[in-house]
Amino acid sequence: MKDIQDCIFCKIIAHELPAKRILENPSVLVIEDIAPKAPIHYLIIPKKHISMVAHLQPDDGAAVQAVFYAAQELGKQLSGSQAYRLIINNGKDAGQSVFHLHCHFIANKIMSDF
Ligand code: 5GP
Ligand code: ZN
Repeated sequence: MKDIQDCIFCKIIAHELPAKRILENPSVLVIEDIAPKAPIHYLIIPKKHISMVAHLQPDDGAAVQAVFYAAQELGKQLSGSQAYRLIINNGKDAGQSVFHLHCHFIANKIMSDF
């Protein structure tokens, strides 16, 4: 598990690595996934480095709230049905590959095919 020093998402947040930035506020950054699995596939990343859901602490509440409000905001920008799916992988065995908490925002795909 990578620590904060070589965390890809911390580096993207700090502009040390490039990414297509979709939305940003003081609490979260939304970027396009580098390997999209749907026509719209964004990653909602809290700016605070939290490695995974299992490591959330009581004072992480604002960061978690900001993730869901960012999803709501992204949903409002969708045309059509405004349907979307949010996915958070917790742990390597669940498919987590970047150990900085993030929520996949997936839309414009027939969800039953996912
Ligand atoms: P996880 O598997 O941890 O739930 O999701 C990590 C996601 O981050 C994957 O969908 C992967 O394509 C994406 N990803 C990994 N490295 C980068 C990167 O450097 N830039 C961007 N934009 N996405 C990345
Ligand atoms: Zn990080």
